[in-house]
Amino acid sequence: MSEGCGIVDPDAPEPSEKKRWYMNEKPQREGMYEPTPHEHCANILTHGIAILPSLIIMQVLMSASHRELQYYIMIIYGIATILLFAMSTAYHLAEYLYRPHQSTGFSRKLRYYLHLMDRSTIYFFIAASATPWLALRHCALLGKNLKWIVWVSAILGISYQFKFHERYKTLETVLYFIVSAIPYLGMITMSDRTGLPLMLLGGAVYAIGVVFFKLDGVVPFAHAIWHVHVLLGASIHTYAIYATLLGPDKYNPFPEVDFD
Ligand SMILES: [Zn+2]
Repeated sequence: MSEGCGIVDPDAPEPSEKKRWYMNEKPQREGMYEPTPHEHCANILTHGIAILPSLIIMQVLMSASHRELQYYIMIIYGIATILLFAMSTAYHLAEYLYRPHQSTGFSRKLRYYLHLMDRSTIYFFIAASATPWLALRHCALLGKNLKWIVWVSAILGISYQFKFHERYKTLETVLYFIVSAIPYLGMITMSDRTGLPLMLLGGAVYAIGVVFFKLDGVVPFAHAIWHVHVLLGASIHTYAIYATLLGPDKYNPFPEVDFD
């Protein structure tokens, strides 16, 4: 037989297990993608670099607040932003340190729970991002109620994560999309729509990022590209909040704003 004679057929396909630094094979069906070491590092760095700036920006937002309500909402928004980047960094770091073939019982559990926390924090962040707009602007009845609906949806989304984590991946993405879209319904009922184009631009950046979120193993560094879109989207939304929602409110004087 020819096996082992040392002659390689030039027409034979490349062996699938060939190691590439920029991308691994796409997983079968709903399987978990295994990033290359370079992709792991990019995943850690692209959100790790945002943790410290998020802390500083939270301070800036708090000191730019002119009313108690603005101040407390900025605390919630700031904490959600820091948690989003910190949980993502912690999860990707654990993924890098304890890759599947190196996982013991403890590290497998650690990776699982950090992933769960990473996904749950996204719902918390979505609700915290919508709250400044829905609570600090005068909205019609729909917008007024949406500030509670968005938090209830986030809690339901987090509960879903704990019950069905990673079981229906496409459904998970659709749920994120729906919860993220809820606040925009309220925003179109606002009497003052200053800053809304920036909100829509940030939303569009997130939406484009979701495309890369689904392209692991197809586009090199797809997950890190998704992270960069999150970073950009969050920066645009944070700037929009800072530029249009804080400080003295000429349209809605203090006594007219409540949190009910
Ligand atoms: Zn990630």
